[in-house]
Amino acid sequence: MEEQDKNIKEKLDIEPAILIHQLKSPLSSIKLSLQMFLDGSFGKITKEQKEIIEKIYQKNNSLLSFVNDLSDINNIEQKFYSFNWALIDLQDIIQTIVYLRKEDIKFKKIKLKIDKPKTTLPKIPLDKEKICMVIENILDNAVKYNKIGGSVEISFGKTEDFVEVRFKDSGIGIPDNEQDKLFSKFFRASNAKKLDSNGSGLGLFIAKNIIELHNGKIWFESKENKGSTFFVALPVKLQAIS
Ligand code: ADP
Repeated sequence: MEEQDKNIKEKLDIEPAILIHQLKSPLSSIKLSLQMFLDGSFGKITKEQKEIIEKIYQKNNSLLSFVNDLSDINNIEQKFYSFNWALIDLQDIIQTIVYLRKEDIKFKKIKLKIDKPKTTLPKIPLDKEKICMVIENILDNAVKYNKIGGSVEISFGKTEDFVEVRFKDSGIGIPDNEQDKLFSKFFRASNAKKLDSNGSGLGLFIAKNIIELHNGKIWFESKENKGSTFFVALPVKLQAIS
C-alpha cells in the first residue's frame, strides 16, 4: 500500500509545465478536430449534430483557456515570462480589440464609446501580445459583468511618465468588503459568481502581473450595482524591469 501511495505521489509530483503541456496538447487536437467537423471537412452534418458539436467546442475552449491561464501563471511564478518589446500604439490595439468583440457587445446591447484622447498619445514600449491579453480581459469583464443595454466608456490620459487608459462600465460593481481581494489568484466576487458561474478568477491576477512587469499600474474604483472603472497606466519609457 505504501509503495502504491508513493507511486501516486510521484505521478502527481509532475512539473507544472509538463502537466500543462499534457493537458494542452489533447485539448488543442480536440479543438482542431471539432473545427473540421463544423466546417464540413468530414462531410455534411445535421443541424442536431452541429448544435451538439458546437456545445462540445465551447466547453473544450473554456477548458483550453483555463489551461492557458494556468500556463501564464506558471510562467509568471517561475519567472519564465520573456518579453517581446516594441513601440506600440495603445489606442490602436484597443480599437482592434473592441472591433473583434463587436458581436458580444451587440449581443448584450452595450453602448460602447471610445473617447478621443485630448493630446496625441505617443507609441509606448509594450509586449503587444501580453498587453492585448490584459485589455481583452478588462473589456470582456466590463461586458460580462454589465447589464443588458448597459454602457462601457473607454478614455485615455497622459502624464509626463505614463499613458493611462480607463474602462468605465455601468455593471454590477464589486461589493465594498470584497474589493481588497480582487487581484488575488482564483478570487471571484459573490455577485459575479451569482451572475455568471463560468469564470476562473485568474484574469485579473495575470493582468496585474503583466502590467507590473511593464512597470505600470492597474487599479479600480467600484460601487456595487452602480459600476466599475478599471485604470491601467503604462510607462512612456522602457525602464529596467527587475
Ligand atoms: P473571472 O472573470 O474569470 O471571474 P477575473 O480575474 O477576470 O476572473 O476577475 C475576477 C473577479 O473580479 C470577477 O469574478 C468579478 O468578481 C470581479 N470583476 C472583474 N471585473 C469586473 C467588472 N468590470 N465589474 C464587476 N466585477 C468585476
